[in-house]
Amino acid sequence: MTDTKNSGALWVAALVKDGKLPQASLELLGEARRLADSSGAEVGAVLLGSDVKGLAGEAGSYGADVAYVVESPVLENYRTEAYVRATADLVKEHSPAALLIPGDIQGRDFSSALAAELETGLAPDCTDIEIDEGTGLLRFIRPTFGGNILAAIQCPEARPQMAAVRPKAFPVPDPDPSRQAKTVAAEVSFGEDEIPTKVTGFTEEKGAVNLADADVIVSGGRGMGAPENFEKLKELADVIGGAIGASRAAVDAGWIEYPHQVGQTGKTVKPKLYIAVGISGAIQHIAGMRTSDVIVAINKDPNAPIFKVATYGLVGDAMEVLPLLTQKFREATAK
Ligand code: FAD
Repeated sequence: MTDTKNSGALWVAALVKDGKLPQASLELLGEARRLADSSGAEVGAVLLGSDVKGLAGEAGSYGADVAYVVESPVLENYRTEAYVRATADLVKEHSPAALLIPGDIQGRDFSSALAAELETGLAPDCTDIEIDEGTGLLRFIRPTFGGNILAAIQCPEARPQMAAVRPKAFPVPDPDPSRQAKTVAAEVSFGEDEIPTKVTGFTEEKGAVNLADADVIVSGGRGMGAPENFEKLKELADVIGGAIGASRAAVDAGWIEYPHQVGQTGKTVKPKLYIAVGISGAIQHIAGMRTSDVIVAINKDPNAPIFKVATYGLVGDAMEVLPLLTQKFREATAK
């Protein structure tokens, strides 16, 4: 990046989880490396936590030139105030040109608070990043209006240029164990008593599902008719090894918990197979699953918009089609 006001470095806030670099951070390190290779910038990985220096090598193998390591008991668990302060201190000291953040739930919280703290802009929910050849600035691409158009966002004045990037927008690069990152250690400038939020423990989320990583998702909508009919979806999902998704209408009706919701205000998914059952295909739902490799739609209305994005469509009553499909898959997988 040709940027005269700062170091020109391209940073990734790695947001370590459970002592590991999450997949979304590896994706961003790979993308940062790609952008840096074409612009001559340096890639920095920001590692915050109570015991994270051991991850510097991995960050290097995925593309970082420098690992900025900030270790403190205050950073043991993610808390907005602590993570924002520690990162803002680093950014003010080193002035990177840009900072990329995974756009998962935690990253969305962190990125918006950090952008406010640094008084810079934030391009949220990006799906692509380009370099503007004329200015050397980053151009952040994000779907908008329910995914109907793509907006290009630039941050010409304030620094760093910041984006929260949708998980799975980029592939995880192949690690190169021969690449080494230089480690730069930093201290936190604040104590536990200055952080108002306290972590008292963790409770496993009821109905927690890992839709984002599922290869197969079977999703139900209002067309399922009643909560007990989701059992039919579960039977199919069990046979083909899938996770259960849902439309917002099904979630709002109380038929299934929110963690299952797919779409603009739910999860963005990209499974190999997405089966949409009794889902009309509103743009807000499609925004969360349109990039699935194969989409199968089951709907009794042949004009339902979901058929426009479906690879295969089955027109019929879900209550009849689902048991038949489950039976066929059961027979096929038993062979
Ligand atoms: P419906 O639109 O009512 O469709 C039901 C479908 O089931 C119909 O096509 C019908 O033909 C079919 N059907 C009925 N009975 C049967 C049967 N027996 N067999 C087979 N098919 C049958 N929605 C989301 O899903 N995710 C989001 O994240 C999301 N975010 C939103 C954000 C905003 C700001 C707004 C305004 C809306 C959002 N919505 C979201 C809601 C979205 O606009 C739709 O209202 C919702 O997706 C509709 O859910 P549905 O397809 O299950 O229900």
